[in-house]
Amino acid sequence: MDIAIVGGGAAGLATAIFVARLMPVRSVVVLDGADKLGAKILMSGGGRCNVTNRVVTAADFRGGNPNVIKQVLAAFPVARTVAFFREIGVELCEEDNGKLFPKTNRALTVLEAMVGEAARLGVRILPRHRVTNMQRVASGFHIAAGATTLSAGNVVLATGGQSFPKTGSDGSGYRLAEELGHTLVPPTPALVPLVLDGDFHVPLSGISHHVELTVQAAGWKPVRVCGVLLWAHFGISGPAVLDLSRHWHRACLERCEVTVFANLVPGEDTASVEARLLAFASAQPRVQLHNALARLLPARVADALLGALAVSGTTLMAHLPRDVRRKVVKALVRWLLPVLDSRGYSHAETTAGGVPLAEVSPRSLGSRKCPGLYFAGEILDADGRIGGFNFQWAWASAWVAATALARAVKRDGPTAA
Ligand SMILES: Cc1cc2nc3c(=O)[nH]c(=O)nc-3n(C[C@H](O)[C@H](O)[C@H](O)COP(=O)(O)OP(=O)(O)OC[C@H]3O[C@@H](n4cnc5c(N)ncnc54)[C@H](O)[C@@H]3O)c2cc1C
Repeated sequence: MDIAIVGGGAAGLATAIFVARLMPVRSVVVLDGADKLGAKILMSGGGRCNVTNRVVTAADFRGGNPNVIKQVLAAFPVARTVAFFREIGVELCEEDNGKLFPKTNRALTVLEAMVGEAARLGVRILPRHRVTNMQRVASGFHIAAGATTLSAGNVVLATGGQSFPKTGSDGSGYRLAEELGHTLVPPTPALVPLVLDGDFHVPLSGISHHVELTVQAAGWKPVRVCGVLLWAHFGISGPAVLDLSRHWHRACLERCEVTVFANLVPGEDTASVEARLLAFASAQPRVQLHNALARLLPARVADALLGALAVSGTTLMAHLPRDVRRKVVKALVRWLLPVLDSRGYSHAETTAGGVPLAEVSPRSLGSRKCPGLYFAGEILDADGRIGGFNFQWAWASAWVAATALARAVKRDGPTAA
């Protein structure tokens, strides 16, 4: 084969399509270890696939050098994503927070359109071909996938990260990259719910509300995330928690003591919340404390907080002692969330860490360690926040790798080494 793409998820399929369009006479094969391709596309966005976002910038990502991320995103902006999906018959429409979904509301539409386009272009797709070994040889690469061995002039590693390993993305691509000379930024789960100690959260299961979350560790700049928190039987989830989780994991990698606080009255601080409670007390002195707090946050959360502080919710605002009021205010704006762990890779939407961006050329995503090897998608050290950003990274990185391959093959022949 001229080009072998290892991994047939979002990034691998997109790379195959782009390469086959740019070089119609070349042979392209996609090798995937799973029985069926595109498990993550199908499960994404609650089965609706949040394909991209109206606005995507490097600030929506964490990981390696932001300039490299910026360069990759610029090569294939959101408008190109929308046009590409229109070309293959998938119209996108915008929802809250700029998220773009297929008009059909079905992730299957996205997967079928991509597989259909790859087939139309003559790409060979081989499921149940888990690549276990790759060797660099003079003519390119020898690839072992179970009982099958094949040779390819160039290889694209698009094996994803480690999240939801049952889908086939089990981190084996990292080992292949290491065997070909790469190092790894240590992977951790990202976009993952967090497990809490104790039982404060248990009766709140199912309640969601806006919060501001902060993760803090000694010698580390605190990271703040605003958005919706969803209480769950195991702890906390929801967009704000998912976005925060990568920072919690990264802080834990380096620091022993990491704390997470919630401001349950986002946008407010101690002084402004105290002023609001004083204003309640003077305007409605006979209102009970828990009813006053229920104007700031969900009533059940207010009750749980008062219970944890051992403060009676039925105290009239007029009778609330100053020290108790201050204790309540402090808890409202800085509530310690006793995070024990995250729910791990089996519940993570993506992986932080991976192949360092410093080890690839930003113009081509070609390896600086192994000529003829390219990368696309989640395997690289770039992880986006929730909202379609990770797929945009998959499409954009696929485009950069595909166009670079086309340039290299044109220049040097099938073995672009
Ligand atoms: C539940 C869930 C919901 C999500 N929702 C969204 C969303 O709505 N919007 C968004 O932007 N992102 C979402 N994401 C993240 C997004 O799905 C991923 O970032 C994206 O799929 C990464 O694409 P990829 O092609 O790099 O990797 P993957 O999609 O993980 O694909 C990698 C492929 O490589 C194959 N593979 C791995 N190792 C080997 C090997 N050794 N040999 C052969 N094949 C191999 C795997 O079988 C897999 O098919 C979600 C993720 C999850 C888990």
